[in-house]
Amino acid sequence: MKPAPFQYHAPKTVDEAVKTLAEVAGEDGRILAGGQSLVPIMAFRLARPTHLVDINGVEALARLAVDGDKLSIGACVRHAAFHKPVVDGPLGRLLAKVVRHIAHYPIRTRGTFCGSVAHADPASEWCLVSAALGAEMVAKSAKGTRTISAEDFFQGIMTTALQEDELLVEVRLPILPADSRTGFYEFNRRAGDFALGMALVTYRMENGVISEPRVALGGVEPLPRRIPQAEAALAGRPPGRQAFEAAAAAASAAVDPLEDAVTSAEYRRDLTGTVTRRALEQAVI
Ligand SMILES: Cc1cc2nc3c(=O)[nH]c(=O)nc-3n(C[C@H](O)[C@H](O)[C@H](O)COP(=O)(O)OP(=O)(O)OC[C@H]3O[C@@H](n4cnc5c(N)ncnc54)[C@H](O)[C@@H]3O)c2cc1C
Repeated sequence: MKPAPFQYHAPKTVDEAVKTLAEVAGEDGRILAGGQSLVPIMAFRLARPTHLVDINGVEALARLAVDGDKLSIGACVRHAAFHKPVVDGPLGRLLAKVVRHIAHYPIRTRGTFCGSVAHADPASEWCLVSAALGAEMVAKSAKGTRTISAEDFFQGIMTTALQEDELLVEVRLPILPADSRTGFYEFNRRAGDFALGMALVTYRMENGVISEPRVALGGVEPLPRRIPQAEAALAGRPPGRQAFEAAAAAASAAVDPLEDAVTSAEYRRDLTGTVTRRALEQAVI
């Protein structure tokens, strides 16, 4: 099928983009970034935006830079930008590992980090990264700019704190300390599919035991989130089988898994333990 008719806008500046969005948001006007989620749903007529505000010509939004202790990722930065580490140290390596699980190469050359975050698919890898590391989302409208914490940003399946007239101009990720250990494990039935379950973990070591553990899950519940019960099972313990199995069991018990026609909640709960343990095992190395 072909999309329903829409009016196309091609702003050249951020101000022009938010001004246009303010004018058309009330008529289901939407931002067009990489188009890798929006265009297919328009083709199926599951979405019928009357206006598209294409931000691909806004040069300022292609910015990817380190600002102090944050990595700023502009709205037009593609997934493929992360194929090679974009910053020295554990964060760059982690992002380069995660990106290879997003769809297929051609999709990664068009789809954007911020588009994934704005779209908020429960199984989005970048949403998981943002929730795990405590990202900041910078939203701009004609009324002003605000910063939203990842905790407040993700609200449910494809539901975020973004207002319809707000452009997500950038996501800021904290630069991980050089001694951070990180692990990521995703399971899906075919390469390139959305995850049925995935875990991202980071921690540091202090006097031979785990400190500052972060354990977050994606694809399991309606939104990605950290699991405090799993983190508590790790803090102050030496990394190893006992602590990892305790954290995996705590994660399994803590989640309220999604269910669909082919994947039961029971299966996802079991998978939660497995992906958590495997992500932790990776982080040891
Ligand atoms: C076959 C296939 C497999 C895929 N597999 C995966 C996968 O495994 N993991 C994964 O995470 N994704 C996957 N995707 C989705 C892909 O990553 C998309 O690129 C991503 O979901 C959306 O980014 P985009 O830039 O393409 O956004 P678009 O499609 O342009 O927009 C998506 C939505 O977000 C809004 N939006 C976009 N940018 C902004 C912004 N800056 N501010 C406000 N609103 C905005 C749009 O208005 C729209 O509603 C897959 C897609 C396909 C087609």
